[in-house]
Amino acid sequence: MARILRVALPVPLYTCYDYLPPREAWPEQAGRGCRVRVPFGRGRRVGVVVAVTEHTEVPQHKLRPAQAWLDAEPLLDAPLMALLEWAARYYHHPLGEVLDAALPTLLRQGEPAQWRLREHWWVTEQGRNTEPDALNRAPRQAQLLARLQALGERGLEASELAQMPGQARRAARALADRGLAVSAEQASPELLQGEGVETPPAPLDDQQAVLDHLQAAGEGFQPILLEGVTGSGKTEVYLRATEQALASGRQVLILVPEIGLTPQLLRRFRRRLAVPMAVFHSGLNDRERLDAWLAAREGRARVLIGTRSAVFAPLPEPGLILVDEEHDTSFKQQDGFRYSARDLAVMRARRLGVPVLLGTATPSLESLQNALAGRYAHLHLKHRAGGAAMPSFRVLDVRGRPLREGLSPALQTAMDAHLAADGQVLLFLNRRGFAPTLLCHECGWVAECQRCDARYTWHRRAGRLRCHHCDSEQPVPRACPECGSVDLRAVGQGTERVEQVLAELYPDVPVLRIDRDSTRRRGAMDALLAEAHQPGARILLGTQMLAKGHHFPDVTLVGVLDADHGLYGADFRALERMAQLLIQVAGRAGRAERPGEVLIQTHHPEHPLLHTLLGSGYDAFARAHLEERRGAGLPPFAAMALLRAEAVQAGHARGFLQAAAEQARALAGGGMQAGVMVLGPVPAPMERRAGRYRAQLLLQAESRAALHRLLARWVPGLAALPTARQARWSLDVDPQDM
Ligand code: ADP
Ligand code: ZN
Ligand code: ZN
Repeated sequence: MARILRVALPVPLYTCYDYLPPREAWPEQAGRGCRVRVPFGRGRRVGVVVAVTEHTEVPQHKLRPAQAWLDAEPLLDAPLMALLEWAARYYHHPLGEVLDAALPTLLRQGEPAQWRLREHWWVTEQGRNTEPDALNRAPRQAQLLARLQALGERGLEASELAQMPGQARRAARALADRGLAVSAEQASPELLQGEGVETPPAPLDDQQAVLDHLQAAGEGFQPILLEGVTGSGKTEVYLRATEQALASGRQVLILVPEIGLTPQLLRRFRRRLAVPMAVFHSGLNDRERLDAWLAAREGRARVLIGTRSAVFAPLPEPGLILVDEEHDTSFKQQDGFRYSARDLAVMRARRLGVPVLLGTATPSLESLQNALAGRYAHLHLKHRAGGAAMPSFRVLDVRGRPLREGLSPALQTAMDAHLAADGQVLLFLNRRGFAPTLLCHECGWVAECQRCDARYTWHRRAGRLRCHHCDSEQPVPRACPECGSVDLRAVGQGTERVEQVLAELYPDVPVLRIDRDSTRRRGAMDALLAEAHQPGARILLGTQMLAKGHHFPDVTLVGVLDADHGLYGADFRALERMAQLLIQVAGRAGRAERPGEVLIQTHHPEHPLLHTLLGSGYDAFARAHLEERRGAGLPPFAAMALLRAEAVQAGHARGFLQAAAEQARALAGGGMQAGVMVLGPVPAPMERRAGRYRAQLLLQAESRAALHRLLARWVPGLAALPTARQARWSLDVDPQDM
């Protein structure tokens, strides 16, 4: 019997496809984990071989041969293939699409798994035998010759040459003229070489405790929740832990929630560690992503820093996985293959038998519960390293106060004092644009998006009304379309509007607005951050982009303009998110010698969240909130899956979900699947969005196992429901937003 290739293809179906091997010769190492190009329907696809087998259900005459091997040896090694197969099962998502999400675009398109050709420089035989000192009249050439000698066969990449001080390129050409060096093109990744110039501070006791824990874990799986306020020395622990892993010849994978946080972390890692590193995130072009991926796979990159999808990067010598800001919701992919990179990082570490460190100032309740239940070690960094004091919190009751574009008199008084002392002030308002509502004062008409159940936000500078849910926009009307009145008014504040009033109130103080609008241009964010790091009085105003991870050493006052919004969210996770956000924003203040102050404006000063959080800290809040979740039978004390559907026609999404719900209820009726509740369908929180009607169906179970048993029997059949074609639908296991 001939051998058959079982291939996973990037199509939304829960099956793999069988092919005869390509007619060409079978490369010796080829098999599972290799890409092949295959005919599919009338076209061609790139797929991944998941098995080589001798049995197939497909009748012999229907089997088609694959067209070509795209890899002569497995592109994905056995542990990675196994992880991806596990992920496909856990998220009940087609394996072909999971593999597709894990591969860089160029590999998906069938490009060879090869680095780009780059110009390199090497010493010649003569150059190897020449004493650099012999070139003492040309010190730059002597220096470069010594460097090339040290690098040997690896050579020096032209881009590294360009980064060297002085006229290094000219020196290289001069060496070539003397016959001491040559250049040629060689396939190689663009690696970021660490400098390793910084001497580390001696670890503090609680930092040492974490390192000891990791050391004791040795070669085994050990999940650690590292809880430490901003400035408590978590990054320092990451550096030390990375050093330990590198010293035993291992690679380290570091996940961060936002692209914007990679440069700052990378800078610290490069200053400390003299090893090649790579970054992996969506800000790179396809070629750069492929290079970084291959550098990790070849073991050339010893440290890989990346966002969500870096969790799938191949690592032949894994030693440690770090997840920074583990509570951050950006780790959850929100469309297509909806995985949690944090959860997969833990699963990957378990399968690889390596430690995984989850760091944060504000643990997610999921991770906290894992720690409290003893599944994760729970370690704390209790104090700010370097002795900086924790900021003090104060709730500003703004009920009945005169607000000037959202600024209370008490907040302004505090701002005056901090600015006068050359401190920086950070104002947090999670709403971009000028105003969230445009209202006709004559008749009450409100500008609403035609495609969503949402209001338009007025972007005054751009002169546009924009919907923040579907990105549609239109010019601002001169007059009310209902009654013709020209008395159209902005209601509520966005960052643009606050920026304007700040310019009036503090004409001599520079104001930096940091939100999605002001950072749209490439490089704009870096420029703003650089400016924020200039000394002197300054006001930073922004949305949650400002709350995440960035260090603003001179900020001494943080003002939260509107805490009310998050206190009464519909989602059961709203309070957890709000608490995390408040602590994260507060963490920006008073990092250096100057103690910080955090003022929170609210109309609900008596809210229990604010009381516990500000009175006793995040930990106390989180533990209390966990008990509420336990009482209510909500995650992490329940497992959930959400089936979402949307359709242009009203009723279609709901019709499909209704049919799906009936099937689920029949399956949940008894036996193995008992204990799974099928709730809904109900309209989505924003029922109409981007022109589609949306609904959802919730499955909730006390036990993860019961939920997954039901999903495994239910999900593969959904596509066959007669109504399935009338709606776009997707399953979200462990949904974060509902
Ligand atoms: P986090 O990542 O928790 O915000 P960092 O690692 O950035 O904390 O540390 C905050 C500050 O304290 C940094 O300036 C860092 O250099 C300093 N720091 C950290 N650990 C130590 C230490 N063991 N001794 C002295 N300074 C330290
Ligand atoms: Zn009107
Ligand atoms: Zn819209």
